Amino acid sequence: MELTILGSGGCMVIPKPCCQCRVCQEARLKGVPYERTGPAAFIHDENLLIDTPAEIAIQLNRCKVQQVNYLIFSHLDPDHVEGFRIVEQIALDFRSWKAYLEKKIRLIIPEYLYDRLKKIQSAYGPLIDYYEAQGFVETRSFKSGIRIGDIDITAIGVDRGSQIAFIYVFEKQGVRMVYAPCDIKPFPEHRSEVKNADLLVIQPGIFEAGLKHGFVYPGHHISRTTLYTFEETLELSYRIGSKRVLFIHLEEYWNRSHDQYLRIAKDDARINFAHDGYHTHITK
Ligand SMILES: [Zn+2]
Ligand SMILES: [Zn+2]
Repeated sequence: MELTILGSGGCMVIPKPCCQCRVCQEARLKGVPYERTGPAAFIHDENLLIDTPAEIAIQLNRCKVQQVNYLIFSHLDPDHVEGFRIVEQIALDFRSWKAYLEKKIRLIIPEYLYDRLKKIQSAYGPLIDYYEAQGFVETRSFKSGIRIGDIDITAIGVDRGSQIAFIYVFEKQGVRMVYAPCDIKPFPEHRSEVKNADLLVIQPGIFEAGLKHGFVYPGHHISRTTLYTFEETLELSYRIGSKRVLFIHLEEYWNRSHDQYLRIAKDDARINFAHDGYHTHITK
């Protein structure tokens, strides 16, 4: 399987607008790989786009993506869906306001998310209704798994109380990737599908030291209910036997530059930190 991380940032982009911190200033000066846009990825084998942050049009152009056949959402938080209108940007035939047939995008989506997707609206009503009516999107909802081309996709829900976020397992000819960008606690490590993956793509969680403002997360901080720490995430990756780990959804607040992440990655041959445009072939 061939994967590109279109955007390696988290719920804040780097540089965070107006921020004058060291990490943001360096990113403004040097651009990619220091700069990070919102969380999105692309599986080339089936032209599958995962999530649509606000910067998705720029990301697709920058990574020279020429065709999107499928779109899947991990969950519906704004940092992952703000750019949903990309389906119109891609598919619209300006003469008719309908889609070019060959540019229609198959939205593959767990039923639970499809029900909630209608809540994402413009002044004219649910976006999905309009996109389906114009033919930009053709929806294929599914319960827990679906096959597209040669890839089997398993959706594993993480119950976050107010909503369910999804971790996806992508498997092609015995090669397996687990994609878990955001809202992944409690991680479903009892599920056999997440074990011994060839690649685990996951957020690093909280860094305890070296944060902005010298902040130290107290033991009861609310973020600890939604995020693991970096050390816990590493331990998790060992417990579930991940052969390689790629960190994404890197928050501005972690106060770490691209160079600092490279140094952390030197300590463990299994791990890498993504940058925008990070490209990898996943093999056994
Ligand atoms: Zn900053
Ligand atoms: Zn997120």
